[in-house]
Amino acid sequence: MTAKISVSGVGKTFPIRGGGEFTALRDTTLDIAAGEFLVVAGPSGCGKSTLLDLLGGLTRPTTGRLLLDGDEITGPALDRGIVFQQYALFPWRTALRNIEFGLEAKGLPRRERSAVARSHLDLVGLTGFGDRYPHELSGGMKQRVAIARSLAYDPDVLLMDEPFAALDAQTRDSLQDELLRIWRRTGKTIVFITHSIDEAVYLGERVAVMTSRPGRIKEIVEIDLGPRDEIEDLRSSAGFAAHRHRVWTLLRDEVQAAQRLDAPRPDVPRPREEARLD
Ligand code: ADP
Ligand code: MG
Repeated sequence: MTAKISVSGVGKTFPIRGGGEFTALRDTTLDIAAGEFLVVAGPSGCGKSTLLDLLGGLTRPTTGRLLLDGDEITGPALDRGIVFQQYALFPWRTALRNIEFGLEAKGLPRRERSAVARSHLDLVGLTGFGDRYPHELSGGMKQRVAIARSLAYDPDVLLMDEPFAALDAQTRDSLQDELLRIWRRTGKTIVFITHSIDEAVYLGERVAVMTSRPGRIKEIVEIDLGPRDEIEDLRSSAGFAAHRHRVWTLLRDEVQAAQRLDAPRPDVPRPREEARLD
C-alpha cells in the first residue's frame, strides 16, 4: 500500500538573526494512510506547527521530502485544507461568504457556491447562522466556520493545528465529537496537532508523539478504542486511561527534556514550575 502522505527524513532549520541557524525539526519520518485520523502530539516548541506548515506547503523542508499521493509537496493547494488555532476568518465576510472563499478560488459559479457553502454550514451544525459576521459568533462557532470553509472545497486532506486549544472545555469536547462525525461521514485524511493528551487519545487512530526540540517522531501509539460514541463516557473508561497513560509517559520525558533545554544559568534563580502536559 502506498501512503497518502509520506514524510521522510524531513528537517527544517531557520536562520538566526545575526548568524547561525536554529533546528526546529530533524529527521522526521512518518507515513499517513488515506482516510486515517492521525494525531501529532508533542511539547510546546517541539516543531509541531513547523511540520504542519510543511505539510500545507507553506514552507519548504531543509532536508528530506514530503509526498502527497506520491508527488512532492511544493506549495499550498486545494487538495489540502488547513485549520489554525486562531480562527483566521475574514472579518468583513459573513459566515456563508467565508465558507464560499475556497469555492471562488475553484471557479464555481455563484449559485453553486452558495449551495455548497450552505450544505457545509449544515454539516458543522450552524444552520441559520450564515448571515452572521465573525464578531457575532462565539469562539466555537468561528472554529466551526473555519472547518466548514476548509471542507467546502473538498480537499482530500485536512490539516489542523491545535484548532480547539483556545476554546473552553465543554465546547472543545463537543467539537471533538463533531469532528469525528464529519471525519466518518467524509472519509477525509486528517492530521491533527495538539499538545493535549486527552484530545490526542480521544481523536486519534494513531498518536505520533514527538520529541522535544528539535522535534522528530519518538513513537507512534495505536489507539484501539473503536468508534468513540459506542461507549458512554469513554474518557472515564479503563481503556482510555491505559492509552492516556502510555502517551503521558512518553510526553512527560520530553517535557522534562525541554525544560532542561530551557533551563537558565544556575546562578539565576527561577520560580518552580509544574510540568505542564495538558
Ligand atoms: P510547536 O508548534 O510545537 O509549539 P513550532 O513548530 O511553532 O513549535 O516551533 C518550533 C521551534 O521553531 C520553536 O522554537 C520556534 O521558536 C521555532 N520557529 C518556528 N518558526 C520559526 C521561524 N520562522 N523562524 C525562526 N524560528 C522559528
Ligand atoms: Mg504550534
